[in-house]
Amino acid sequence: MIIVLRPHSTPEQIEHILERIKELGFKAHLSKGELRTIIGVIGDENKLHAEPLSAIPGVEQVLPILKPFKLSSREFHADDSVVRVGKVRIGGGALGMIAGPCAIESYEILDTIAGQVKAAGANILRGGAFKPRTSPYSFQGLGEEGLKILRAVGDKHGMPVVTEVMDPRQVDVVQRHADMFQIGARNMQNFDLLKEVGQTRKPVLLKRGMSATVKDLLMSAEYILSEGNLQVVLCERGVRSFEDSTRNMLDLSAVPNVKGQSHLPIIVDPSHATGRPDLIPAMSRAAVAAGADGVHIEVHSCPEKALSDGPQALLPGQYAALMQDLRKLADVMGKEI
Ligand code: PEP
Ligand code: MN
Repeated sequence: MIIVLRPHSTPEQIEHILERIKELGFKAHLSKGELRTIIGVIGDENKLHAEPLSAIPGVEQVLPILKPFKLSSREFHADDSVVRVGKVRIGGGALGMIAGPCAIESYEILDTIAGQVKAAGANILRGGAFKPRTSPYSFQGLGEEGLKILRAVGDKHGMPVVTEVMDPRQVDVVQRHADMFQIGARNMQNFDLLKEVGQTRKPVLLKRGMSATVKDLLMSAEYILSEGNLQVVLCERGVRSFEDSTRNMLDLSAVPNVKGQSHLPIIVDPSHATGRPDLIPAMSRAAVAAGADGVHIEVHSCPEKALSDGPQALLPGQYAALMQDLRKLADVMGKEI
């Protein structure tokens, strides 16, 4: 439910409304726009219908939110949200260019790759320390040692860092070292994990599950938002299909689809979507043209020696060439990198 306040409602009136909502056992989220202040009321709407909320001074209108996701809906927040990762902005016209290897392998390798992607124009460094591998015998990541390397390399190159968290028990340690949590496709509906990162105030990159609908993705974002963390960036990374010449099938329509329904930024990961370096440049350009708020790409200085996802990694030179195209496209789209 949304409570729309009168244009000149006083701070005392707003405080009174917030207290009343709390008293009734609901959560209130205040959103101050330029013209309007609105309050999102979260809880079982049926119980609220009976309350004469529109009788409270300062209230202009009480409206139901028709979508099953509330705080992530455009109805709750009409403008595009901007998520800050360190000094980098994602959304509202600013593109987040996330790049780096699939896994953190050593300080030297990450340092080399970070220098190259930064020079090409990437603004956020990625690298996995806890890796969700299909096989338990594959490289599982360096754990906390990897997080320390990521932090040190990010600081050296002046880049904020994003890394995956797979389990609620890892949230503390990841939070200490990284600027942004990544929740991977396999964990998009790990609700305890969503709630745990929702309790923090660090931005979250939430990837679409491989068989999740756009609505499922937004409902998962809702878990994070409803805990009080509004800093969520969505990521389209392809879904499973019958097509077997690509790793997944990139659903680019998810970008305008999400934007129509939600204020949250959405970026695209063509690396995991296609699994093919020959397709990544075209899909990255298409993503920016479709209105994505950024692109997430795996880059490795020596893909043949990579411990994870080597075959889909772009070489630094390929990434730099792609970034030149993306800068031109960003210009056309009225966006900035
Ligand atoms: C990754 O980013 O390395 C990753 C494992 O991605 P996804 O969760 O999309 O498969
Ligand atoms: Mn990967």
